[in-house]
Amino acid sequence: MTNIPRLATVLLLSGMALIPVACGESKTGKNGKPAIQTAKEAPAQPTKPVKKTDEEWKNELTPEQYDVLRKNGTERAFGKVYDEFKHQGSGTYYCAGCDAKLFSSDHKFDARCGWPAFYDVASNKSVKSIVDTSAGMKRIEVRCASCDGHLGHIFEGEGFNTPTDQRYCINGIVLKFVPDKEEDSEKKAPAKEEKDSKEKE
Ligand SMILES: [Zn+2]
Repeated sequence: MTNIPRLATVLLLSGMALIPVACGESKTGKNGKPAIQTAKEAPAQPTKPVKKTDEEWKNELTPEQYDVLRKNGTERAFGKVYDEFKHQGSGTYYCAGCDAKLFSSDHKFDARCGWPAFYDVASNKSVKSIVDTSAGMKRIEVRCASCDGHLGHIFEGEGFNTPTDQRYCINGIVLKFVPDKEEDSEKKAPAKEEKDSKEKE
């Protein structure tokens, strides 16, 4: 009889030893860095078209960013980037290639498609769209207007409950996220003193 509790202990311990293996995959990228580039301050905006040689792009971008921006690649659906995107708070998204302001969290929605989705752009000037027939179907490709980097595609009329029913299906790896600062929301708080002084009159 005394062997039974001991057996249970052994089973419990071996079971616990398996848990770290099952949970080994972390939500952040290699070296603990977030999969989507983030910055505290909004970057300076490009004032003219950004043109670089293929060699320069290779040196400045990560291999994943280079593949999407310069080679029209597509990041893996439902990957770490998508997971991070869903959990990000309010903020602004810039181009990882040239810092141009592209999207705002105001227009973000979960299309459950495996890639970051927005129903509008931050400014119509920041992106350009062109017809893409590369995959044997007609799609509208979205490119950064400033550095001509490939961002993703636009799909329309899918029935999403958004003001535009457009889905900017964007590779999150080519975005740079700058979260809104807390002080911005504090400024929006109504001033109470003004009302009090009026009541005295
Ligand atoms: Zn760009």
